[in-house]
Amino acid sequence: MASIRELHEQLVKKERSAVEITQEALERIQALEPKLHSFLHVTAQQALEQASAVDAKIAAGEEIGILAGIPIGIKDNMCTKGIPTTCASQILKNFVPPYESTVTQKLLDSGAVMVGKTNLDEFAMGGSTENSAYYATANPWDLSRVPGGSSGGSAAAVAADECVVAIGSDTGGSIRQPASFCGVVGMKPTYGLVSRYGLVAFASSLDQIGPFGRSVEDTAILLSAIAGHDPKDSTSLKVPIPDYAAGLKPDLRARGRLRIGVIKETFGEGLDSVVEQTVTKAIDQLQSLGAEIHIISCPRFRYGVPSYYIIAPSEASANLARYDGVKYGYRAPDVDNLLSMYTRTRSTGFGTEVKRRIMIGTYALSTGYYDAYYLKAQKVRTLIKQDFEKAFEQVDVLACPTVPTTAFKAGEKNTDPLSMYLLDLMTIPANLAGLPGLSVPCGFDNNGLPIGLQLIGKVLREDQLFQVAYAYEQSTTWHLHQPQIS
Ligand code: GLN
Repeated sequence: MASIRELHEQLVKKERSAVEITQEALERIQALEPKLHSFLHVTAQQALEQASAVDAKIAAGEEIGILAGIPIGIKDNMCTKGIPTTCASQILKNFVPPYESTVTQKLLDSGAVMVGKTNLDEFAMGGSTENSAYYATANPWDLSRVPGGSSGGSAAAVAADECVVAIGSDTGGSIRQPASFCGVVGMKPTYGLVSRYGLVAFASSLDQIGPFGRSVEDTAILLSAIAGHDPKDSTSLKVPIPDYAAGLKPDLRARGRLRIGVIKETFGEGLDSVVEQTVTKAIDQLQSLGAEIHIISCPRFRYGVPSYYIIAPSEASANLARYDGVKYGYRAPDVDNLLSMYTRTRSTGFGTEVKRRIMIGTYALSTGYYDAYYLKAQKVRTLIKQDFEKAFEQVDVLACPTVPTTAFKAGEKNTDPLSMYLLDLMTIPANLAGLPGLSVPCGFDNNGLPIGLQLIGKVLREDQLFQVAYAYEQSTTWHLHQPQIS
């Protein structure tokens, strides 16, 4: 499928209707889903109705917005009124939200056409989408491999052209990591830029919603549409939202001096040599485009994983207390008292990884352990933030690999949660510090699997990340490669 801008042109010139574009996406979904499983629910009927409404506007001579008639996938942890929202969990199997999340409401208002809710790791906990209680999603570049996670469904759907763009959420890398594994662009915005109202909470101080696209421009257009202050989210920032796509220029020198800092510590042990070579080449390319390259040290970066895996489960253990068989979704049958109803509901309704995190979090927050674990992790979080602050005194943007490896085989890390956690090494620090991060495709390994370059920016400097990624993308051909799904 074409880009947002191309499709918009076709609609405005009446070369194609929104219904035709939607039908094309739905046909592709129908053909590919038996292999990919990117979606948990396909909302064909609603999509065609939304598309018809866009066509009616065009026929009436009304102006349409840039996203009107554009097929989009939504991660199934965002509440959509009247449409199932399962979080890929058994415990929310029959949950149909009575309200709309702010992000999906904004998208509805913009005329975007939601084609379905995408698969994820249960409650966004995981890095492979294998923790979905329903089924795993395959990587479009190699069906025997994982698409990454937790927003693996959204990343795979965009890579496979089942929709033009998609929405994901990122608590410790869940947009950037699957973007890297699937060869698409993914952006985690500054904490507070996009409203979390209606996003099912995992770890509230880290969660952010963000866009996926096949190009930097599509991703930038989508972010402008979903960002903005929301009185329904107390952590939402009151800042003007730029038109991120409007300022994109292929020339990196267009806005004067640009300093990029390469994070030294991300190039050590555990990094695949082909990822190292490819990312190094991408940084050379940025230099040839006019960026000044500096080597930067963030010595506490590597403590991101241990502190995140205390903080995130602690917040999750509190957030997931609400699934008790009373308020939402599933309730275990045949129970004889209140306590056994709670226990049976939660022990059968949650999957293994979710239960592991609830237990770790409850333990870390309990009396006597709070200071030793939770408080200590929060102190480390502050130190990581300080590393970034120091780095940003010297450079404008930081660069490193998005993930130390390319996509791994399905089942390979199932029995070893720690090896899965370690993949988040390079993405977690931006969440701990609340900073924007973006992954842009920068090449392939010897098996033809995509590799991502991560760019991390200063608070609210998404514009700079898009600018650097755009100049890089336009000077390479990676974004033109497409997976051949057989
Ligand atoms: N892989 C990380 C985890 O399992 C990140 C998840 C996320 O960003 N939602 O927690």
